[in-house]
Amino acid sequence: MTVRTGCADTPLLRERGQREVFCGLTSIIWLHRKMQDAFFLVVGSRTCAHLLQSAAGVMIFAEPRFGTAILEETDLAGLADAQDELDREVAKLLSRRTDIRQLFLVGSCPSEVIKLDLEKAAERLSRQFAPRVRVINFSGSGIETTFTQGEDACLAAIVPTLPETDRRQLLLAGALPDVVQDQMLALLDGLGIGPVTVLPAARADDPVSVGPNTVFALVQPFLGDTLAALERRGARHLPALFPFGEEGTTEWLRAIAEEFGVSEERFERVTEVPRARARKAVAQAAATLRDKSVFFFPDSQLEIPLARFLTRECGMDALEVGAPYVHRRIVGPDMAMMAPGPVFSEGQDVDLQLDRARAARPDLTVCGLGLANPLEAEGLTTKWAIELVFTPVHFYEQAGDLAGLFSRPLRRRAALKVGET
Ligand code: SF4
Repeated sequence: MTVRTGCADTPLLRERGQREVFCGLTSIIWLHRKMQDAFFLVVGSRTCAHLLQSAAGVMIFAEPRFGTAILEETDLAGLADAQDELDREVAKLLSRRTDIRQLFLVGSCPSEVIKLDLEKAAERLSRQFAPRVRVINFSGSGIETTFTQGEDACLAAIVPTLPETDRRQLLLAGALPDVVQDQMLALLDGLGIGPVTVLPAARADDPVSVGPNTVFALVQPFLGDTLAALERRGARHLPALFPFGEEGTTEWLRAIAEEFGVSEERFERVTEVPRARARKAVAQAAATLRDKSVFFFPDSQLEIPLARFLTRECGMDALEVGAPYVHRRIVGPDMAMMAPGPVFSEGQDVDLQLDRARAARPDLTVCGLGLANPLEAEGLTTKWAIELVFTPVHFYEQAGDLAGLFSRPLRRRAALKVGET
């Protein structure tokens, strides 16, 4: 007898060549919105400051909650004591901004090149500014990373600072837009599951704790280091599909419901109506997507769960699913649900991958901003991967919007073709 495991055991095409991705500093754009009393101080160069500014768009804040401590040439040449300068900058910032309760020192390529020890700096500054401000460091460097890893590094750095608890609880890890987080918590409340705690918390004083009776689920598939950090604190991971689309949301909820002994009858009662709504919303957008092919370049690390959603709920055919890193422990359940066929690639050698995409001529190519324009010029239809991170796409109520994000470029291309004739 053979057990069908979909693509769970499909070998990966591993590539280690040139990559085209944003660095982890990009995560600050959504993290600073979630953590309302936090400040993200990037210790980097003018390039880092420009990246943050352009990723954030042209936003003018009265009191922004992220900034860059610029390493000047003298710092880079090791002529000045960058630690002293950093202390001065932090003291200036914290005396001016009494609303800051958590300060993140964010490492960058330049700070790593000159081996500026931000861990030591965070310990020293934490002692100096405790108990008012907690200082934590993490790396957003672009060396060998992708942009969603900034969130992973940030949450993994928070985990060791969380208080210990023995209580039986559910911890949910991953930053979601507030409206989506509220929907998630309402569903879990409807199922009678609690207490529930969310990482990252909105404020430093919010009671997030962890311990051996904590079980946790991820809401984002790029949290490998956070998973490991939570396990080091004794918490137990609940493997599940990711809550994209009707099926993903239902199976994510089911994994938690089973752990907490929720009856099948209650599960059906709570999920029946939003499930039907999600199915209907997806069906509308899926009319454009059905039987179309899709090719994912590695970018957001959402690729595998999204490919599962597009193939199973929208009727698309995945040709290649590239991801910067493939953690089978995290995305294994999604891979197991997919029918064999697509190539799963990990990492990137951008020229080789472009050749494969050109040869395959997919109907839709999901890729980074830098690749999208040239591919569009070659007649391919593209979707910017970064939009998937900035748009609310999780859980039932966003399932239709998620499908719509993929159908829109195809509809636009079809409209342009009609216009040309
Ligand atoms: Fe560039 Fe590195 Fe700064 Fe990111 S951290 S903006 S990759 S220099």
